[in-house]
Amino acid sequence: MSSLAVSRLAVEDSGPLPSASVTEAVAALARKELAPLAAAIDAGEVYPAELMRRLGELGAWSTHVPKDGVADLRAAIQSIGAIGEVCGATAFMAWCQNTLVWYAANSGNRKLVERLADDFATGKVLGGTGLSNPMKSFFGIEKLKLKGRKVEGGYVVRGVLPWVSNLGPDHFFGTIFEREDEPGSLVMFLADCADPSITLQPCKPFLAMDGTGTYGVQFRDVFVPDDLILADPAGPFVKKIRAGFILLQAGMALGLIKDCINIMDEVERPLGHVNRYLPQQPVHFRDLAAELEAETMALAQDPFNTEEAYWRKVIDLRLRAGDASVAAAHAAMLHCGARGYLKSHRAQRRLREAYFVAIVTPATKQLRKMLADA
Ligand SMILES: Cc1cc2nc3c(=O)[nH]c(=O)nc-3n(C[C@H](O)[C@H](O)[C@H](O)COP(=O)(O)OP(=O)(O)OC[C@H]3O[C@@H](n4cnc5c(N)ncnc54)[C@H](O)[C@@H]3O)c2cc1C
Repeated sequence: MSSLAVSRLAVEDSGPLPSASVTEAVAALARKELAPLAAAIDAGEVYPAELMRRLGELGAWSTHVPKDGVADLRAAIQSIGAIGEVCGATAFMAWCQNTLVWYAANSGNRKLVERLADDFATGKVLGGTGLSNPMKSFFGIEKLKLKGRKVEGGYVVRGVLPWVSNLGPDHFFGTIFEREDEPGSLVMFLADCADPSITLQPCKPFLAMDGTGTYGVQFRDVFVPDDLILADPAGPFVKKIRAGFILLQAGMALGLIKDCINIMDEVERPLGHVNRYLPQQPVHFRDLAAELEAETMALAQDPFNTEEAYWRKVIDLRLRAGDASVAAAHAAMLHCGARGYLKSHRAQRRLREAYFVAIVTPATKQLRKMLADA
């Protein structure tokens, strides 16, 4: 059974997929226009802003916007998966954009929503999320890096975030500071990269993800007006958006695993006579992908669920998705042999991308800590 057939089965199991036509249009654009760019994005030669905007015009960033207090992340995850089947870096940028949309769409700040939510959801304005450091701080791993103090009409924020992706001079991202004037109080806001007091510093080259518009971001006493506050206090808002934040990442894993299965299938004819001695076969990853996808689709229909048992399932799924990504990319390398060891072959790109799925916040070690502490 093809991976696509597995994907349809899993979706049918948990009810009809909303916005399925969006996912199909995204998959078609990814195959036609993203595939030729994937190597250049991987090499850091291209940041595909134009393509990200076009995906937005197709509806890729808007299917998960809540309606009447109800949100369904299935089509957004499937779309990230369709992009990830072609390019892991762009799937990550898709997650960044979808997360930015998720923050704005869930904010109770009417002025912010009116000014920016639609522009994010249509891809007119691009951006991402700087929540790695806060997510780590909530679970006792590191201290908050941004500090803010109340002033007339807003806050003044200072500090440095080491990595924020899908950025450029006219982009926005959501992040959190701790109040210096009220220690322990957290505020979530949108940073406007066009602000002259914000500096985007290029990062040293990465193992992968170099075309993702990733920068170190310096805040030098940045005035953040009330209009850009996502939530004050941040705590209850973070509880609301956290499952969506994590579940959307499953799309990166599902797309990558499916392409690793494709890679293994592609070498079946010339190398199957010896590859069959390898312990992990495409059939194992088809089963694993179908299982992860079915669980993801079920959880994605209910992202505002507040039960602890639901949250634990989300963390556990995310952990297994990272492990499965690395395992599938490792198996694809072994199946390909010397073919996959060529720099021009995508098997080695998949391996590098897979490690990113496992280390992006919440990283494997953080997820294990969260499960151990729960
Ligand atoms: C390519 C790329 C893109 C990313 N994009 C985003 C994003 O869009 N938004 C976001 O919030 N996070 C982003 N991150 C951060 C990411 O989500 C993880 O937080 C990061 O990979 C480390 O997570 P960890 O839990 O393994 O922490 P660890 O690596 O164990 O620890 C992280 C801490 O170690 C220190 N540290 C690690 N490496 C260095 C270094 N080279 N120099 C100085 N200090 C260092 C820093 O204090 C850092 O906070 C990105 C990271 C990478 C590599």
